[in-house]
Amino acid sequence: MSEHAVIIGAGAVGCLSALELVQRGWRVTVVERGRLGMESSWAGGGILFPLLPWNYTEPVNRLALAGAAHHATLCEQLLAETGIDPQFQMCGMRILPPFDLAVARQWCQAHSIASELESESLWLPQVAQARNPRLMQALRALMLKRGVTLLEHTQLLPLQQDSGRVNAWQDSEGHVFDADIFVLTAGAWSQGLLGRHALSLRMKPMRGQMLLYQLPPATLPSLLYQEDFYLIPRMDGHILAGSTVEDVGFNKATTPAIATLLATRAAALLPQLADAEIIKHWSGLRPGSPDNVPVIARHPAFDNLYLNTGHFRYGVTMAPASAEILASLVCGEAPAVNAEAYAFPKPG
Ligand SMILES: Cc1cc2nc3c(=O)[nH]c(=O)nc-3n(C[C@H](O)[C@H](O)[C@H](O)COP(=O)(O)OP(=O)(O)OC[C@H]3O[C@@H](n4cnc5c(N)ncnc54)[C@H](O)[C@@H]3O)c2cc1C
Repeated sequence: MSEHAVIIGAGAVGCLSALELVQRGWRVTVVERGRLGMESSWAGGGILFPLLPWNYTEPVNRLALAGAAHHATLCEQLLAETGIDPQFQMCGMRILPPFDLAVARQWCQAHSIASELESESLWLPQVAQARNPRLMQALRALMLKRGVTLLEHTQLLPLQQDSGRVNAWQDSEGHVFDADIFVLTAGAWSQGLLGRHALSLRMKPMRGQMLLYQLPPATLPSLLYQEDFYLIPRMDGHILAGSTVEDVGFNKATTPAIATLLATRAAALLPQLADAEIIKHWSGLRPGSPDNVPVIARHPAFDNLYLNTGHFRYGVTMAPASAEILASLVCGEAPAVNAEAYAFPKPG
């Protein structure tokens, strides 16, 4: 009988962790409080690249670039095996001033990222995107095809055990899960699920609000970025405008003031949006972590509890590489990416 992993949380990180473990011969159960992929992984923009990577530390960029490198093949595989197209496209990103051009060019050169200076903007032709809801639907289909057991509407309670080994983890209906290992991929809710065993983990939800428009396809050919605001053009003419980074706790409300702010910025970047109807306004809670560095590690107090969480602004981008690291740690393999920076934080 193969070893059994229970994965807690079916966002992009949990689903890809499940697939990596299945590939290594594990029996996997994914437990999800709501429906698969409907939290941060649904709400995000699907840009597969850090925004102004030169402003982040090396561990963030290392994981983001490693994750980004997987997405073309992953999306191809998802389409071929499930018939669901995540609409991966390498549409490029144009960065408008102000930004530090010298630092940006130097970073691109050092990381072999193509960049061209066009007038005062920086064109990054290799930046890609995928369409989150489709990506998540395709991941669901592939997981089921690979034999993963998916339990939706199943909410685990905060961990009750002392230390050593997690023998049982209970859900809100009194059902008890046992497994050889548990993997915590509950995004913004991960710290709460650890209860007092969160120790020195410092995660918090960070709300992001987004607007959706529809224009004729190809009105905007590429991603457009200026001062922490972006427009994301989908293949069918939908355009996403976002987003905010708000420290408001577990509050997923959308606010009219932010809608006005985002709409003003959207119209300033793309004048056709000034008269376009806002089709939808939503928000999601990112798993915020210090410096945007996730934790991909075994819990210091439990032999069979692993964390893969805290990917903050780039979880969809990072998820394939992060899942690979997680599975390597579980199986005692050397991870393909240096994972020391993603250790469980030390006290103090
Ligand atoms: C507006 C916005 C824009 C973004 N844009 C981008 C972008 O362009 N590119 C990018 O890479 N990233 C982006 N992100 C960030 C990205 O979405 C996240 O980093 C990523 O989705 C995190 O994935 P996750 O699987 O860790 O978390 P989630 O997708 O939040 O999944 C966690 C899951 O755990 C479940 N869960 C919670 N508690 C329990 C429990 N007690 N029991 C069982 N299950 C539980 C939740 O229901 C949820 O489904 C954006 C996010 C937002 C909000």
